[in-house]
Amino acid sequence: MKYIANIIRILFLALFIFLLANGKVVLWLALFGVSFVVTLIFGRVYCGYVCPMNTLMLPIEWLSKKFKLQTNKTPRWLKNGYFTWITLVISVSVMLLSKRLLHIDLPVLPFWLVISVLVTLRYKPEAFHNLICPFGALQRTFGQFARLSEKVDKDVCIGCKLCEKACLSHAIVVSSEDKKAVINTALCHQCTNCRQVCPKSAIHYGKHGI
Ligand code: SF4
Ligand code: SF4
Repeated sequence: MKYIANIIRILFLALFIFLLANGKVVLWLALFGVSFVVTLIFGRVYCGYVCPMNTLMLPIEWLSKKFKLQTNKTPRWLKNGYFTWITLVISVSVMLLSKRLLHIDLPVLPFWLVISVLVTLRYKPEAFHNLICPFGALQRTFGQFARLSEKVDKDVCIGCKLCEKACLSHAIVVSSEDKKAVINTALCHQCTNCRQVCPKSAIHYGKHGI
């Protein structure tokens, strides 16, 4: 499963680079638009398997940990969650103004690609995914209504927190009250990392809320 997921990610990254090299990155934005419908049904699979930023962040996260560059801290000014909406407004404004005033399609995605790599060198991936990424702000909005998602069988969960540690987007948390894991579909990228480490096989993909 892990290898298949990585092959899918690499294929989409190659498609992104191909479109970028041929000046057609605007087609990627069309793909992103379609992803909202997909998110409403299948959850944030765009973020987990298609997004070039996420694909690059995976090895960068590994490197950051290996060379002990990563910190658990998150800058205080990011914590209120507003910044991700500010980045969205700035990104859309830059795209619209460059089109109207300069008559060019200014690709903002490559810019955010560089930022995602730089941020992940120092901070946990959840900082970029949940607090900075302008595209993530929209994906979160649609993700909370996902019809299908990874979900936890509370009767089986023993609250060991292994899933919490494996999740790169802080989408699964063991409740301090009942000691059972819960997945937040707004944050979940449907990557299955949690499912792969669960010693009780308590996590499955299926209809959300049932
Ligand atoms: S890894 Fe499995 S058993 Fe452990 S807390 Fe997560 S869902 Fe529960
Ligand atoms: S580790 Fe589990 S909860 Fe976290 S993003 Fe992946 S599938 Fe979702």
